Parts: sequence; structure tokens; C-alpha cells
Amino acid sequence: MTRPPQQPRRCVVTGANRGLGLEFTRQLLARGDRVVATCRHPGKAQALNRLAGEHPGRLHVLPLDVAEPKSVAQLARELPLLAGLDGEDDGARIDLLINNAGVLHSGERFGQVPAANLDDSLRSNATGPFLLTQALAPLLVDGDTTRRGATVANLSSGWGSIGLLEAFRTPSYAISKAALNMATALLAHGLRDRGITVLALNPGWVRTDMGGSDADLGADEAVAALLAVIDASTLADSGRFLDRRGGTVAW
Ligand code: NDP
Repeated sequence: MTRPPQQPRRCVVTGANRGLGLEFTRQLLARGDRVVATCRHPGKAQALNRLAGEHPGRLHVLPLDVAEPKSVAQLARELPLLAGLDGEDDGARIDLLINNAGVLHSGERFGQVPAANLDDSLRSNATGPFLLTQALAPLLVDGDTTRRGATVANLSSGWGSIGLLEAFRTPSYAISKAALNMATALLAHGLRDRGITVLALNPGWVRTDMGGSDADLGADEAVAALLAVIDASTLADSGRFLDRRGGTVAW
């Protein structure tokens, strides 16, 4: 079921201070949606704070370190208070949660992969998004035959695909994204009865701090394509790993 375009969505985006997260926030606001944009250090998030000034009442910036369970719990407590401030009558319900924040420790070589990289990547890229979704689950909009339920979009990567593996490359990142894919499949099962769709999305290679300047795609192009995939998805897609054209990616 496709949501009518005129109906504004209430969205939460993680890692929204730069890269794809900032671009998701920009494009969602441009479509008229309301966004809670989260990042580790709101005081330093200049581009995000400028956007908040341009969209008073529709963009709120809140602190969140996805790798820290205490920070996740604090966001879950703060979101309902925010809805009260906005005068919303149905509480802090969320239509779209974008688990975008992620970390890539580059330069890892076989025999020398530091435990700290594996630890940090798993917490930031896999267990963090899982715990955040679990903590915010009570706020996600339920779907039924008349209304579309919430969507949870997890930013995965082709490097997390075992099926596409060609070389020994960035294990901390690859292992954590493969774990995120499993988290996606598990969350899809856990939330299916409530009509909530959970997707793993591969954006392609995008020009951001992480992707670097040689990447194929601009952040604007990648995000526009991913939002189209999210819009077109249905509950039948829940638990799938999709690319930016809506095609299936090998697990
Ligand atoms: P960037 O490195 O440009 O941005 C990463 C964002 O994640 C930053 O906002 C960063 O915040 C935030 N972040 C990292 N760790 C945490 C944390 N523990 N808590 C909260 N925020 C955190 O990456 P991209 O924008 O390129 O990537 C966005 C997502 O897309 C990632 O999940 C990435 O794996 C995925 N992806 C990107 C690809 C690409 O080519 N760019 C390809 C495939 C997947 P801070 O500024 O505080 O560090």
C-alpha cells in the first residue's frame, strides 16, 4: 500500500549531521515531512542546525550515539516529550525510522585487524540499530488494511553481502553489515504482525566522507533513489535486502 504523497510522515534519522543522513533529512523536509534528526554532537552539527532554522517546528535535532545503549534509552524517553511540545494528538508516533549512522575503519589487513575496530563497528553498525529499533518499537505506527504501517530502513552495504564477497576487505565493516542484515531479517519477523516493514538497503557507492570523492553517485541521487524504494515497498518486502533500484541483493 503506497502512502498518499500529501500526508506528511514523522521520521527519525540517525547520523544526520553529514553524508547520507544529512541528505535524507534535507529531502524528507523538502517533501513536507517532519524529521527528528539525531547525531552524536548536535552542538557541532552546523549544516543540520542551519536546516533546523529554515524549517522551524518540522526539524528537531536530538543527541544520539547509536553505539551507546544509554543514549538510545535517552532518545526513547525524549521523543514522546517532543511530540507533546508539537501539540500532536497521537503521541510521538514514527512513520519512518532510518538507521543510517555507520562507521568504516579502513586499512584493515589480514592478521592485523584490531579487536577495537570489530567492537566499534558491531556496536555502531549492527547492535546499535537493532537496539534503537527495539527501543523505539512502541512508537512505530501500526499498519492495517486501511493505513500503512511504519517503515524501518537499515543502511546496509554490498560489502556486507556474503554472496557478493570477492576479496578480504574491511572485515570490521563487512562483518557488522552482515550482522545488520540478520538484525533486519529478525526485526522484520518481530514487527510483521504489527504491519511494520523492515528493509536492508544498499545505497551503492556514494560520494561522502565514507565513500570518498571517486564514488559513482552523489548523495542527492542515492537518497532520492532510496526514498523511492522505501515509498514503493510493502509489507511483502519486509526482511528483504534491496538496492537503490529496488532489486534484490544477495545476502
Ligand atoms: P559518513 O561517514 O559520511 O557519515 C557517517 C555518519 O554516521 C556520520 O553522521 C557519523 O557521525 C555517524 N555515526 C557514526 N557512528 C555513529 C554513532 N556511534 N552514533 C551516531 N552516529 C554515528 O557515511 P555515509 O553518509 O556515506 O554513510 C551512511 C550510511 O550508508 C552508513 O551506514 C554506511 O555504512 C552506508 N553506506 C555508505 C556507502 C557509501 O558509499 N557512502 C556505501 C554503502 C553503505 P559523526 O560525524 O559523529 O562521526
